[in-house]
Amino acid sequence: MTKCQYCGFTNKPDTKICKKCNKPLVLEPLWKPDIKWYLKVLGLIYLVLIGLFFLLNYLLRPYMRKLPSEITPWLERNEQVK
Ligand SMILES: [Zn+2]
Repeated sequence: MTKCQYCGFTNKPDTKICKKCNKPLVLEPLWKPDIKWYLKVLGLIYLVLIGLFFLLNYLLRPYMRKLPSEITPWLERNEQVK
């Protein structure tokens, strides 16, 4: 048995529309995320991640080590290449 959420009338199990008030018995989702919501939430997540990256970069700066120039020759200026 399916009870109508609007009028409380008890309908047969396989009915889709209430016999008394003609309203649909199937519960529709109250809210569906749309593309705007996704863009907003994903943008927020990316912003938080990027912010976190720079924050950690700043906070952990004393613990970072410089790579020796021997293993990163592309970072060196041309004048040092023999
Ligand atoms: Zn009803």
